[in-house]
Amino acid sequence: KEELNIIQGALELRTKTVEDVLTPLTDCFMLTSDAVLDFNTMSEVMQSGYTRIPVFENERSNIVDILFVKDLAFVDPDDCTHLKTITQFYKHPMHCVFNDTKLDAMLEEFKKGKSHLAIVQRVNNEGEGDPFYEVMGIVTLEDVIEEIIKSE
Ligand code: ATP
Ligand code: ATP
Repeated sequence: KEELNIIQGALELRTKTVEDVLTPLTDCFMLTSDAVLDFNTMSEVMQSGYTRIPVFENERSNIVDILFVKDLAFVDPDDCTHLKTITQFYKHPMHCVFNDTKLDAMLEEFKKGKSHLAIVQRVNNEGEGDPFYEVMGIVTLEDVIEEIIKSE
C-alpha cells in the first residue's frame, strides 16, 4: 500500500544519509566563476532546467557561490555581464553538510534554512598527506522528499 511505503520511507530517514541520495559532482550542472553571461551561457542555464547552479573557481570541487536562475531576471545577454558581478550582488549563503548527515536531520535543516540545496563534503584521509575536505556533490530538498515517497 502507498501509505505503508511512505511510512517506510519516513522511517528510513533516520538511517539513510545524504551520501545515499546526493547528485554526484560529476553530474552537477555548474558554471565557472569567470563565466560571462552572454547569450550562449544564459541559454545553457535555461536549457539545464535547474533553479540553483553552483559556481566553481578553477576546479569543480571548489564551489564558491550559488547562482539562482531568478538572479538573471534583469541581466541582458547583450551586456555580457560577468557572472561574478551577479553572485557578488546577491551573495546567496552556501550551505555545506557532511556526507554522513542523516536524512531526518537534513530535512530539519532544509525546513529551518532558506536554501533548499546543500553541498555535501566528506573528510578524505585516504592519501599520504593531511586529511582534507572533499566535495562529493549536492543534495536538495527534493532528493530527501523523493526518498520518502518512492520508498518500497
Ligand atoms: P526546483 O524544483 O526548486 O525548481 P530544481 O528542479 O532545479 O529546483 P530540485 O527540484 O531541487 O532542482 O532537484 C531535482 C534533482 O536535480 C535533484 O536530484 C537534485 O539533486 C538535482 N539538481 C539540482 N540542481 C542541480 C544542478 N545544478 N545540477 C545537477 N543536478 C541538480
Ligand atoms: P522556489 O522555492 O522553487 O524558488 P517559490 O519560492 O516561488 O519557488 P515555492 O517554494 O514553490 O515558491 O512555494 C512557497 C509558497 O509560496 C507556497 O505556499 C506556494 O503556494 C506559494 N506561492 C508560489 N508561487 C506563488 C505565487 N505566484 N503567488 C502566491 N503564492 C505563491
